[in-house]
Amino acid sequence: MTHLNWRFDHSYAQLPDIFHVGQSPKQVHHPRLLVLNRSLAKCLGLETGALDEESLARIFSGQDLPPDARPIAQAYAGHQFGHFTMLGDGRALLLGEHLAPDGRRFDIQFKGSGPTPFSRRGDGLAAVGPMLREYLVSEAMHGLGVPTTRALAVVATGDRVWREEVLDGAILTRVASSHLRVGTFQYAAARQDPEALAALIQYALSRHDPELAQADNPALALLESVTRRQARLIAQWMRVGFVHGVMNTDNMTISGETIDYGPCAFMDVFDPKTVFSSIDHAGRYSYQNQPAMAQWNLARLAEALLSQIDADPDKAVSKAEKVVHGFKPLYLDALREVMAAKLGLASLGENESIADDLLEVMLADKVDYTLTFARLTSAVRNKEQTPVQERTATTDSILSDFERPSPAMSDWADRWQARLESQPGGYGSALPRMQKANPLYIPRNHLVEDVLEQATRKRDFEPLLAFLAVLQDPYTEHEGCEAYAEPGAREEPFVTFCG
Ligand code: AMP
Ligand code: MG
Ligand code: MG
Repeated sequence: MTHLNWRFDHSYAQLPDIFHVGQSPKQVHHPRLLVLNRSLAKCLGLETGALDEESLARIFSGQDLPPDARPIAQAYAGHQFGHFTMLGDGRALLLGEHLAPDGRRFDIQFKGSGPTPFSRRGDGLAAVGPMLREYLVSEAMHGLGVPTTRALAVVATGDRVWREEVLDGAILTRVASSHLRVGTFQYAAARQDPEALAALIQYALSRHDPELAQADNPALALLESVTRRQARLIAQWMRVGFVHGVMNTDNMTISGETIDYGPCAFMDVFDPKTVFSSIDHAGRYSYQNQPAMAQWNLARLAEALLSQIDADPDKAVSKAEKVVHGFKPLYLDALREVMAAKLGLASLGENESIADDLLEVMLADKVDYTLTFARLTSAVRNKEQTPVQERTATTDSILSDFERPSPAMSDWADRWQARLESQPGGYGSALPRMQKANPLYIPRNHLVEDVLEQATRKRDFEPLLAFLAVLQDPYTEHEGCEAYAEPGAREEPFVTFCG
């Protein structure tokens, strides 16, 4: 057997021709399997165990295409840092949609498999470092419980890729519940092809909101649905301190999954203005701007859908505006839920300031975002484990294990402690909420860089795999893994690049 038991369908390819173009993967010289996500393969019902590494490397570099794969590049457009451009998969190919044993449909895509008609001036290639980075960070996001595309494999091609330096080439196999983007709709709208746009709307609903397929106003129903998903997604990013870095409309999915792990990184010291990307000079996609940028992107989606929302342009605009304006309350609800859980509270009142007050103290104290919430969680655990008769709210501060908390932090903690003790279930109900909302381990920048360095320069994958194992289960304490939880040294600011 030289093939995996894929079950491919090609529903996207049945959309009008403007949305796709057939393209074969490039031949590569010496494919070598670097990482394979066996647990994801298992979820997909793929039996990888019977194949040797060489066969797997040939499969995941597109050299042995499954007989029923039909590789295509997808067309889309996008606002990149505010400027509209016609784009498309310049270095990616969709093999088809694999039907998993549970009936779910997943796009299987190669990234870095050679040029396509959409490559413009690009070479269609990807380098090992950035593809391993996407693998690591997207799997970490999955472990954190944040909706995301996933990574099935990375293969080194044996070919060279020319960037600022000469790098080793690689192909990532990406798994997504679809690759439909805000930019896919912008593309159809820009082509002024209402039939294609209507077909795309129906297609998106059939994939992501089948219950809305019969909606009176499918375009509006889709806009509402995407708005809801994005509101929840961005609140999840904020929960874990994730900075996407390149929230262009071509990088915003209809599914509500995080996509495009180029310049993303996790915030360490809490600062809402955090930006990592070398090209984001204005801080357009900073941590704090992410909700506003998501809403901006949704306004672009709304514009693309206008002609399908109502034949009367004024009515179309007013219907669409209502939905887009609805993003903010939806997001704030989702964020309140997230922050309540991070603080162990059942809920936060709309005017309650306890979460914002903590963030203000954290900003002033320049403390690590993840570590602070992990410590608050362990403070609650200590309290929970103290027999009730030994507890006294006033004499035993909840921060007794904190090293020299600032006066502002101590004041805040007193309020929080009183709030926890007065809620039904007290510490006992707070703890499980906090343990699920506050990770111990995130892909810290210094560690990511370190394991990628070992993998790319020394071809030593052990550090990467060990880190990955912890990141896949980030809410449980892993013995002997304290170093993974520690912030890096604060030297110069961390900078990321589009891989
Ligand atoms: P991104 O900034 O990663 O979202 O990419 C924006 C666009 O550039 C997409 O259409 C990509 O397919 C394309 N692109 C990125 N890198 C390359 C490359 N090396 N060769 C061809 N196209 C690329
Ligand atoms: Mg992209
Ligand atoms: Mg990218």
